[in-house]
Amino acid sequence: MITVHTLPILDDNYTFILEAQNGDVALVDPGDADAILDYLYERNLTPDAILITHHHHDHIGGLTKLKNRFDCMTFGPAAEAEKIGDLTITLTENSTLSFGGEKVDIIETPGHTLGHIAFHFSESGLLFCGDTLFIMGCGRVFEGTMTQMYQSLQKLAVLPDDTKVYCGHEYSLANAEFLKSTYPDDTSIQARFKQIKSAREENIPTVPGLLSVEKTTNSFLNAKNAQEFETLRRLKDNF
Ligand code: ZN
Ligand code: FE
Repeated sequence: MITVHTLPILDDNYTFILEAQNGDVALVDPGDADAILDYLYERNLTPDAILITHHHHDHIGGLTKLKNRFDCMTFGPAAEAEKIGDLTITLTENSTLSFGGEKVDIIETPGHTLGHIAFHFSESGLLFCGDTLFIMGCGRVFEGTMTQMYQSLQKLAVLPDDTKVYCGHEYSLANAEFLKSTYPDDTSIQARFKQIKSAREENIPTVPGLLSVEKTTNSFLNAKNAQEFETLRRLKDNF
C-alpha cells in the first residue's frame, strides 16, 4: 500500500510525495525544492527516488537541489534525458521500475512534450500523468501532434476505472468551465462543474480524480477519434 500526499507548489502545480508501507519515499515532479524541503523536514521524510514525467521547468525545477541534498535515485524519460539532466535512470515504455515492493509501469504519452511519460502503479491503482491528462481536460499539445496526444490519452483511458488520477496541475475549474459552456446539455458535466467549483471555493484540491469519473465527464478523454479531439483541443486553446 502506498500513501500519496498532494503538495501544492508554485502557482498551480502539484508535487506528489509517496510513502510506501516499507518506508520507501518518492517524489513525483518536484517543481520547487524549497516548498518540498519544508514539507519533508517537517515530517522527517527522506526521499529514495524522484520520478519525472517531462522536462518542463515547473516539473523539474527542484530536481538538482533535492537530488544533491538526499543523494537519491532519479528517474525520467530517456527521450528527454538531455533536457532534464541529473537522471540516474532513464525510462522507456519497456523499462521496469519498482517502488515499495510494487511494480511501476511506464506509459509513453507524447503530445504535450515528445518524451512525456506517465507512471502507473497497477497494484495500488495510482496514475501519475504529469501534463497529459488533467481533471476534465488535457495538456496543451506543444511538441507532438494532435494525433499523438489523442493516442496518448487513449492509452490512459483503458486503465481500470478505479485508478486514481494524479495530474500535474490544478486546472480543474477552468477546464470544467470550458466543458460546461461547450456541452450545455450534458448533465454529468454540469454536475461535475458544480462539484469542482464548490471544492475550489474552499481551496480543496480536486486532485486526485477517479478515472471512471474522467471517462464520463472528460470530453478530451472521450473523443471518438483524433479529429474530434483536435477540434475540441483547438476550441479550448482559444477559450
Ligand atoms: Zn508541462
Ligand atoms: Fe506543467
